[in-house]
Amino acid sequence: MNIHEYQGKEILRSYGVAVPNGKVAYTVDEAVEAANELGTKVSVVKAQIHAGGRGKAGGVKVAKNIDEVRTYADEILGKTLVTHQTGPEGKEVKRLLIEEGCDIQREYYVGLVLDRATSKVTMMASEEGGTEIEEVAAETPEKIFKEVIDPVTGLLPFQARRLAFNINIPAEYLSKAVKFMMGLYQVFVEKDCSIAEINPLVTTGDGNVLALDAKMNFDDNALFRQKDIVKYRDLDEEDEKEIEASKYDLSYIALDGNIGCMVNGAGLAMATMDIIKHYNGDPANFLDVGGGATAEKVTEAFKIILSDDNVKGIFVNIFGGIMKCDVIAEGVVTATKEVGLTIPLVVRLEGTNVDAGKKILADSGLNITPAESMADGAEKIVALVNKN
Ligand code: ADP
Ligand code: MG
Repeated sequence: MNIHEYQGKEILRSYGVAVPNGKVAYTVDEAVEAANELGTKVSVVKAQIHAGGRGKAGGVKVAKNIDEVRTYADEILGKTLVTHQTGPEGKEVKRLLIEEGCDIQREYYVGLVLDRATSKVTMMASEEGGTEIEEVAAETPEKIFKEVIDPVTGLLPFQARRLAFNINIPAEYLSKAVKFMMGLYQVFVEKDCSIAEINPLVTTGDGNVLALDAKMNFDDNALFRQKDIVKYRDLDEEDEKEIEASKYDLSYIALDGNIGCMVNGAGLAMATMDIIKHYNGDPANFLDVGGGATAEKVTEAFKIILSDDNVKGIFVNIFGGIMKCDVIAEGVVTATKEVGLTIPLVVRLEGTNVDAGKKILADSGLNITPAESMADGAEKIVALVNKN
């Protein structure tokens, strides 16, 4: 789960990790009021969307007085920001963060991720702050320093000091930088983060070390014990179809193509997308209905696929292990009758109760194209979609 920058900063603040003062605003008037309350000479108007790269896209503006706050808030609210992380369709700005302007000395990067190679949380830091870390990794990888953290001891002060030295944080800021890193690690662990990225971390003219940006992601599997984090969920930032899918415990990810896929098992779902690509088709989604899906779940999955206007054909690829083919077939027939199907549907069933499943499809009187294998099914759906 992803949250907004201002929410991330609220969490950091509650752990004593230094962030600038700021307030969220949903309207231009609220933005002006927030700036007045902050009472600082310079304030920054920041678009709150679940994507980075806002600065370059015009979503972060420094206002030198209240009139400028009003102008920028008016300009950014309701605007569709297109950054390299939003995709070409962009994201509409519905919230702003009004924050005190900082006298930045230098910008750094500090991030925490789970490193799969070592199975440990790793802190990364660089003196190339403000720039995308992917860019630094590609062009000057020697400027990224890492500390692998032992889960038993947690981040040790000497590791934080070593990172701060390596990224050339001046001596007078060192103890504050170390305190910052230790606090950030504590938040990461206690809140079950999967990413905590501070870009930039800045040193300021008045001697502080602050997080000017905060990108935090949380492990969905831990949300059951992170009720405070769940409250931060902003459905406006999520794909409608993905929200619907999460209600039924379906693993669904929307993609750009036109062939809807319904598959059981994540591995088979990945392989299905590959084979559609192999036959020069484009999958419209990843969808794993899971091992023990019911007819109801299959029906909902079908409706979600069909609610995507880009879908011009559907490929159902099921291996019946725990899941029985007749249950899937029933779900497909029910859903097709319920929502009405005007586009081609190819179904490949294999495994438990396959004959019963095939019979249900054949007897349904619906226009369903059966497939003998995964390759056969992929080839058929691509051909049918291209024909229409
Ligand atoms: P994004 O990463 O989405 O572009 P950031 O929050 O990192 O957004 O802001 C972009 C840049 O704007 C920062 O690198 C920093 O230079 C400047 N900036 C952001 N917040 C402030 C602030 N409170 N005071 C001064 N400058 C800021
Ligand atoms: Mg940033």
